[in-house]
Amino acid sequence: MVSQLEFVMIKPDGVKRRLIGEIISRFEKRGLNIIAMKMVRISRETAEKLYEEHKGKSFFEDLISYITSGPVVCMVIEGDEAVSVIRKMIGATDPKEALPGTIRGDFALSKAENVIHASDSPEKAKKEMSLFFEETELQLNTQTV
Ligand code: ADP
Ligand code: MG
Repeated sequence: MVSQLEFVMIKPDGVKRRLIGEIISRFEKRGLNIIAMKMVRISRETAEKLYEEHKGKSFFEDLISYITSGPVVCMVIEGDEAVSVIRKMIGATDPKEALPGTIRGDFALSKAENVIHASDSPEKAKKEMSLFFEETELQLNTQTV
């Protein structure tokens, strides 16, 4: 068993479309543990840090506008191999390629507005969760399955 922490964020379109409950429910039913969660409006500065790997790409400005356009729900989720398990659950970046049964495959059609973010490695998860959560906020929940 390899317990990992994953950073997940329901994007503004997911919040606007009232998909928060549906998405959280999927993670809980899978047996993952939500150990921290908050709704925030991302600043431009934080958005640029979150997506710094995409700086300079054609879609970067649109991505920053979109992600700062409304509230998002940020979560830290713990579980056995949580990073790869959750990346599979969210599906391919382009929802047209995402399999039915995945979150993007079931709820999105646009490559730009694709409902949810999840970090693509344990290292990135650590860095990205630190943009939204203090160390002490990640030690509160000791829920086990
Ligand atoms: P993922 O979110 O699956 O990790 P990426 O890290 O490649 O995907 O891209 C980050 C986000 O940038 C995507 O989720 C999507 O919102 C947006 N994005 C990526 N590629 C494109 C594109 N070609 N056109 C418009 N938006 C894009
Ligand atoms: Mg990514």
